[in-house]
Amino acid sequence: MTDRFTPAQRHLVMSHIRSRNTKPELKVRQWLWGHGYRYRLNVKGVPGKPDIVMRKYHTAIFVNGCFWHGHGVEWKTENGERKTANCCKIPQTNRDFWVNKIQRNQQRDQQNYELLKDNGWQVIVIWECQLKANVLNRTMYEVELLLNEKLLSLYQKHKPAIYYQNEENNLPMAAEKNS
Ligand SMILES: [Zn+2]
Repeated sequence: MTDRFTPAQRHLVMSHIRSRNTKPELKVRQWLWGHGYRYRLNVKGVPGKPDIVMRKYHTAIFVNGCFWHGHGVEWKTENGERKTANCCKIPQTNRDFWVNKIQRNQQRDQQNYELLKDNGWQVIVIWECQLKANVLNRTMYEVELLLNEKLLSLYQKHKPAIYYQNEENNLPMAAEKNS
């Protein structure tokens, strides 16, 4: 069957299709940028090459595809027990091949996360399925809370607000009755 487009037209059509098909990490980046967060991409020397690195927040964000990184994948454990899938299912054909491949990916992911955590980084994993239109805002709101929690802990490390912790706690609450 011949293509009804010239190569140049075909290229244009395909690039248009791709651009409408927003990649998961792009959704995260757009949200963060739109909410005033700044980040870096493809930072070299950071374990696991996180999709987004936010130095100010000591946070590395991984946006993981559910299949390749095995989100809630259905496993057969060594004693033959089945863990149920809640996200992506492994094809029945060549099942062992896929299980091995995905498990290796998961092990490598875990090693990278541990390495980052050992160095004081917060690791946030966002799954592709958590970026669907109906849950995107909720997911990103939780990410925002985690970022700010980390920022607060970094801030307090350098400038602890001692007066707050020592004195405020001893004061009676405004609504409390004096006995
Ligand atoms: Zn998923």
